[in-house]
Amino acid sequence: MCKAHKVAVLPGDGIGPEIMDAALKVLTAAGRKEGETFEFKHALIGGAAIDATGNPLPEETLDICKASDSVLLAAIGGYKWDTLPAAQRPERGLLGLRAGLNAFANLRPAIVPRQLADSSPLKKEIVEGVDILIVRELVGGIYFGQPRGFGTNEKGDRIGFNTDVYSEPEVERIARVAFEAAQKRQKRLCSVEKSNVLEVSQLWKEVVIRVAKDYPDVELSHMYIDNAAMQLLRNPKYFDVVVTGNIFGDILSDEASMLAGSLGMLPSASISGSGPGIFEPVHGSAPDIAGQDLANPMAMVMSAAMMCRYDLKIPKVADRLEAAVDQALDQGLRTKDLWKEGTTLVKCSELGNKLVELV
Ligand code: ATP
Ligand code: MG
Repeated sequence: MCKAHKVAVLPGDGIGPEIMDAALKVLTAAGRKEGETFEFKHALIGGAAIDATGNPLPEETLDICKASDSVLLAAIGGYKWDTLPAAQRPERGLLGLRAGLNAFANLRPAIVPRQLADSSPLKKEIVEGVDILIVRELVGGIYFGQPRGFGTNEKGDRIGFNTDVYSEPEVERIARVAFEAAQKRQKRLCSVEKSNVLEVSQLWKEVVIRVAKDYPDVELSHMYIDNAAMQLLRNPKYFDVVVTGNIFGDILSDEASMLAGSLGMLPSASISGSGPGIFEPVHGSAPDIAGQDLANPMAMVMSAAMMCRYDLKIPKVADRLEAAVDQALDQGLRTKDLWKEGTTLVKCSELGNKLVELV
């Protein structure tokens, strides 16, 4: 048997501990079938960390994460901490963790499971079979560019300003992550920018075209962000992998998540290309249903599957997790967020136990 995979486990707040509990059981069971074992190191982050230590990202937590092969995170935040000033909020823990691990690439699959194609707000024919991977640059662009701030223009009016800036190496490294992901999928990559208006996008496009020479098996296309936002709703099946900058990716990935119609199904990864990545559901801490065993653990289980694939390099365990989710959906098992007439309502812990049987 191989050495145990070291995983930092950050359950966080709200439904976090419930879905994490379910996901760890399922992951352990799937690993056992493939002869893989895990060493889980629990640590505090977000509101839970503020309550215990006064800091949303205690030094000990970051140290544990850095010393692990990968980081599994559930959810952060809740009503209790909403009145704190922005700089002391639970969410700062997540920003600190991303920066601390240099997690520059955010990977968000937008998959519509066939069993849920009629839960989408879009027509079934449009969303059925959608399987998109959005690769968003996470630590650069207009959210971080300098100069930024407030000032006064020549007319004396107050102004606010930000700077959208990317360096060639920053574009190159995110482009490589996207090309490599495309090679493992349908081998189609669409780079999304606004190079008809923005210099930062012209540089983006030039670098992507240059990097493409190293991936001749991947078919590259380019699209302006406005058109991409439209095509994502008109013909989402056009897309395989999408690569884009920080702000465009923020908007497109939320738009894409609605194709599936439910937050409870969608995983994400934030990776650095070397060192541990952070794997977490797209949804938040759902404080309205926390502590009631009502949450859908599938996004958390799918996040664990992404971790197995990207960081731990145990794709067979990932396959088992994904197949178990698929089978549970086939059997009509639904938590409250997805339940409708003709399906079976299950609690978070029940679904977790069922997935353990199915892996
Ligand atoms: P954040 O700011 O942390 O992203 P949010 O305001 O986007 O949070 P969520 O916490 O994602 O909100 O919750 C939005 C709605 O979706 C809530 O009604 C919540 O109960 C529901 N929800 C989110 N995740 C799940 C889940 N895993 N299972 C069931 N319902 C969920
Ligand atoms: Mg949100």
